[in-house]
Amino acid sequence: MADARLKRLVIVGGGSAGWMTAAALSSMLDSENTQITLVESEQIGTVGVGEATIPDMMNFNRMLGIREADFMKATQATFKLGIEFADWGRKGDRYFHPFGEHGADMQGIDFHQYWLRAHQGGSNHPIQDYSLCAIAGKAGKFCHPHENPKSVLSHIRYAYHFNATRYAQFLRQYAETRGVIRTEGKVESVNLTPETGHIQTLILENGQTIEGDFFFDCSGFRALLMRQTLDVGFQDWSHWLPCNSAQTVACEHVGPPPPYTVSTAKSAGWQWRIPTQTRTGNGHIYSSDFMADDAAHDILMGGLDGKPISDARTLRFTTGRLEEFWHKNCVGIGLSSGFLEPLESTSLYLIQMGISKFITLFPDGSFPPVVVNEYNRQMRQQFDQVRDFIILHYCATERDDSPFWNYCRTMSIPDSLQHKIELFQKAGRVFRYEDELFSRPSWVAVMLGQNIIPEICDPIVSTLRDEQISHSLNSMNRAMVDAAAKMPTHSAFIDQYCKAANA
Ligand code: FAD
Repeated sequence: MADARLKRLVIVGGGSAGWMTAAALSSMLDSENTQITLVESEQIGTVGVGEATIPDMMNFNRMLGIREADFMKATQATFKLGIEFADWGRKGDRYFHPFGEHGADMQGIDFHQYWLRAHQGGSNHPIQDYSLCAIAGKAGKFCHPHENPKSVLSHIRYAYHFNATRYAQFLRQYAETRGVIRTEGKVESVNLTPETGHIQTLILENGQTIEGDFFFDCSGFRALLMRQTLDVGFQDWSHWLPCNSAQTVACEHVGPPPPYTVSTAKSAGWQWRIPTQTRTGNGHIYSSDFMADDAAHDILMGGLDGKPISDARTLRFTTGRLEEFWHKNCVGIGLSSGFLEPLESTSLYLIQMGISKFITLFPDGSFPPVVVNEYNRQMRQQFDQVRDFIILHYCATERDDSPFWNYCRTMSIPDSLQHKIELFQKAGRVFRYEDELFSRPSWVAVMLGQNIIPEICDPIVSTLRDEQISHSLNSMNRAMVDAAAKMPTHSAFIDQYCKAANA
């Protein structure tokens, strides 16, 4: 029987997507049998942003066998317990979308039903008062989760803020040690096999030819292979997510770095603050249909805490995704496959999914359509579900102080999102479908945070006495506040942790 195994894998692009792909493949495949080549062009460079993550990132590093403390030192990372949203529902509103659960589900009933009952009874505690991540985050505290599930500290769930460029360098070292061959150069043209339309060779500017059996398009917004060469269609979501521009700048810290991201809504978009160990990354995402670049720049600079330490950069993007993520002998991973603004820090996660789902379906050279279709189905679903969650932040606003917010408040939204909102509004219920990224507590945090309050609470919870509920909630909140008070500060924890790793 002929050996149909893929022997030459070629990655185009050396940003986060390219090196994450190279690292993951090199950790799985024997370099004696499979050659992995990565082509990147220093002249083109990388997008150079992408500093906030979600907890799943930890699984990726673990899969590669990377020690957390080594990763933190190499990438100047801090810990992240969630995101604080300011001015999203109404101007002056603030809410925290924490990682992990709120409270604890009691007798099999979702915690938010108890919160709702207390709210209907006149309690004015926001739901984040029952999240250890939110309480510790706002107090500037951090520790690792406790292993004992009975400990309140077991409720900690976290991710990182980090320097993405350093992460790509760190992974490059990892991948090269495991046999990945890096080729510097600009891909100038791509040859296809006439009979099949598969990619056969890449021709670099210096004349070098790179042959491959399978290709990964990690070329960023250019989408050199998937769109420019294979002509795969792109679904444009600008009508739901009208932001199409970003300006970014780094500034000095003022005070210790908080263990959470801040996202503040502005008149035609929003601004982020992401603290790493050495600086705060800032960016203003906006829609150029509603705001000129100069005005956006003024807002960015006006929203800084400390002195700028880099020049501001402008980036353009179109929100949406490829119609197919795997086409012929090529998979698109990273910005080449689609873009959703970083409101919930999901891009690196989607890269991770693109890689892990490919590895789960790893093909031989025959690429059965059923395998390709399954990959595309799963990746489409991942993107579409994240898209709905991002749109929620925009459509669930009561702001009417600018044309941008008037548009977002009144735009039509996907049916899938409409259903989720209605089910919550009318019956207080939220369900997680298939392997959807965002779980119930995340949907609840954003919906309540943006003033979507269900009309009723669970009828079973309604039969409980007021005192019973307030007693449970008060003791939960007290236990969390006490636990947070005993935690080290975020800065002290990082210092200790990175110092211990040096020893
Ligand atoms: P790039 O970094 O652009 O890399 C593309 C690579 O392809 C480069 O190495 C380039 O040299 C190479 N290349 C291109 N054309 C050629 C060619 N012809 N020949 C050879 N090489 C070529 N994600 C998060 O998870 N969290 C965030 O907080 C976050 N914030 C973001 C903020 C903004 C404003 C933007 C735009 C994105 C953000 N992202 C974020 C997304 C994140 O930056 C990307 O998902 C991630 O960096 C991956 O990028 P990439 O590797 O796909 O593309």
